[in-house]
Amino acid sequence: MVSHAPCARYLWPMTQPALPIGVFITPVTPLQQNCTTVWCVKTMKAAVIDPGGSVDAILGELERRGLTLDQIWITHGHLDHAGGAAEMQEKSGVSITGPHPDDQFWIDGIPQQGQMYGLPEARSFKPDRWLADGDSVTLGETTWEVYHTPGHTPGHVIFFNRAARFAQVGDVLFQGSVGRTDFPRSDPEALIESVVTRLWPLGDDVTFVPGHGPVSTFGQERRTNPFVSDQALKGPPVQRSPSGPA
Ligand SMILES: [Zn+2]
Ligand SMILES: [Zn+2]
Repeated sequence: MVSHAPCARYLWPMTQPALPIGVFITPVTPLQQNCTTVWCVKTMKAAVIDPGGSVDAILGELERRGLTLDQIWITHGHLDHAGGAAEMQEKSGVSITGPHPDDQFWIDGIPQQGQMYGLPEARSFKPDRWLADGDSVTLGETTWEVYHTPGHTPGHVIFFNRAARFAQVGDVLFQGSVGRTDFPRSDPEALIESVVTRLWPLGDDVTFVPGHGPVSTFGQERRTNPFVSDQALKGPPVQRSPSGPA
């Protein structure tokens, strides 16, 4: 018997019933990572993006919604995003897709990160499919574009559904901030490059779920984000402080 997720927050189709996808967010781990479940409304096949923990709660919520877990997708190899992937695969038998192979060292380090952050149950895993820039993944009757967005981690990827104007961007971009770049093999210049050349061209109207914190749109961030707004990028680079979980 799996438990329900009391904290799941529904984004769609509650507000936009015409869209081809549904989305709900379950904040997981003490780092409050936005584990995002997306599904094809025609087939009710679901993908869980970044199951960092609370695996039973997420599976319970899928069951309650009448969704069938079809795939696990990973944006990057950090503990709070990927620490529950092995357990979810074990309990469901579905495949794990992503991230890009440059995050192998982070995936290998998950058990060690788990010890450091008080999540001793977090485990490493082996992706069934690695992703590269320009790949696409299919979920039911929906297609998702994959972009390689290094900077926060070298193997970070994002998932984009063009029909729904929706993206899950992990720790690349947040409402009002960007991902930390003080980790081993982080690269602040690459992060900005990823935002400008991979995210912005998808369109100002795109709604995105970040790895942590509230949902926003690319247009809003281009207007107001102190690190990557159009205005901020005209001046010298603004470094964010390495505080917070992401
Ligand atoms: Zn991260
Ligand atoms: Zn994170």
